Amino acid sequence: MKTLKVGFDLDGVILYNPVRVFRVAAKTILKPIKATLLHQEKASFYLPSSNFEKLLWRIIHMTSFKINNGYDDLKKLSDNKNIELYLITGRYNFLKDGYLSWLKRIDAKKVFQSCYYNEKNLQPNQFKENMIKKLGLDVYVEDNFDIIEKLNHHTKARILWLNNIVDRNIPYQFSYSSLQEICRYLKTLV
Ligand SMILES: [Mg+2]
Repeated sequence: MKTLKVGFDLDGVILYNPVRVFRVAAKTILKPIKATLLHQEKASFYLPSSNFEKLLWRIIHMTSFKINNGYDDLKKLSDNKNIELYLITGRYNFLKDGYLSWLKRIDAKKVFQSCYYNEKNLQPNQFKENMIKKLGLDVYVEDNFDIIEKLNHHTKARILWLNNIVDRNIPYQFSYSSLQEICRYLKTLV
């Protein structure tokens, strides 16, 4: 049997982020304003440049403070020989320290085959697309619906959506409301 290769996003998937709900709301309100003011392209993700912006961005990421419910299920799943798990986060280079300390806290070495972060500050969706192709992933788990749409467009992997209260009414074939549910689904594939 072919090994199933599955990639996971960090923030909002492996880590529970209580502000992600607010982020969806903020994006809906702020993005059109910002796009008008800065003539930013709608598709581009925000890359902080000044030190002040980087500080704010770090604070936002510090709020990803809790390992998500269901991570134990994922640990169990990683014992299955027919499945390989990978961690792929869009976190930018200047968030490296936080990323590395989370790897330790989640015992990533035991659970994941290998872990990657967005060292070269690519657009997060571009980085994820590259890694999905490079590793030949069959499945990728993501919480950001904008990214899901892009990955579905540019990769053949099956993209699972870990949705949230605000936007879970968006119709999508592979939509799940918990990491436990996702683990249950993955078990049916191996
Ligand atoms: Mg995420």
